[in-house]
Order: sequence, then structure tokens, then C-alpha cells
Amino acid sequence: MLKSVLSEKTCGQCRNCCVFYSKSRWETPSVPVENAEKIRSFLKCETVVEENGNICKIQSVARSEFPDGAEEYKCPALDENSGCTLPAELKPIECSMWPLRVMKDGLDVYITLATGCHAVDDDFTNAVNLLLKNGLYEKISETVKKDRAIIRDYDSSYLKLMKITEEN
Ligand code: SF4
Repeated sequence: MLKSVLSEKTCGQCRNCCVFYSKSRWETPSVPVENAEKIRSFLKCETVVEENGNICKIQSVARSEFPDGAEEYKCPALDENSGCTLPAELKPIECSMWPLRVMKDGLDVYITLATGCHAVDDDFTNAVNLLLKNGLYEKISETVKKDRAIIRDYDSSYLKLMKITEEN
């Protein structure tokens, strides 16, 4: 979704959004209900996706090896050497949107930017705001209509970029 401003190569070399400290394990991506069983089957593990009503989320797992001070958990779909192992059709939309997220603060829903992403600086933020004004806002709004599980509770480490209007 953000390929014009964030290359796959940059993401592939970082993978920071696929590993988690214990306090950030909530950040694992949601997946559509219809993909939950497919992902379990692909990763050969029944517990990798947790279902809670209509919301399905990938569950982080402990990393076997990690540098001192690094995140202790990872997405079970992450191969530490080669990156995300999920095929394109099973890749969570939240991963395709990263470092953007959709978050609810009170009654309002916002498109937000993860300030902890290593690619985010002032130039990147300006470039994303331009994309939002030129069609990305509509694309994300449509995505939210189809998959409300991507709406997360607001976290103050995220920068609110644009409010999503009421009809969503
Ligand atoms: S599904 Fe893939 S891209 Fe998304 S967090 Fe897991 S490993 Fe990373």
C-alpha cells in the first residue's frame, strides 16, 4: 500500500514490525476470519491465530535467539533469516498498511502513523500525508468498511494523521 514511499527492500532489511517487546505484543496483526484456518494450516500450528468473536489475531511467539535488548517475541510467520513466510493472499492487510494503522480514540477513528517505525521521519510523514490526499485515504476507508477488525484502540506512540469520517 505504501510501496511508492517505502520499498520492500527497506522493510525486508528491518522487520522491526514483525518482532515485539512483551508490552507491544498487542501489535500483532489481525486477519480476516476466513483466513484464520488457512494461516493455521500454512504455519502448521493450531494456536497461531486466536479468535475472539469476529476478531482473529496472529499470536506472537517467543524468539529462540535475539540480540541483547531486542524484542523477545516475534510473529510466528516471520523467518528470522528470510522474512515473512506468508503468501500474498494470506498476508494481513495491517502488514500491508504498515506503518499506518487505523485507531479509535473515543468515538473517533483515525489513520495513524507508527512513530516507532525506523522509516518514519518528517520527510516520510509528509510523503504519506500527500498519498492520503491523493487516494490513499479513500483506499483505507474502503478497507475499514470491509474489515473492522483492523480498528485498534488508540496508542499514544502513534501519530494521528487523518480522521476517518462518520459513514465508516
Ligand atoms: S504476517 Fe508477515 S509481515 Fe505481518 S507481522 Fe507476521 S511476519 Fe511480519
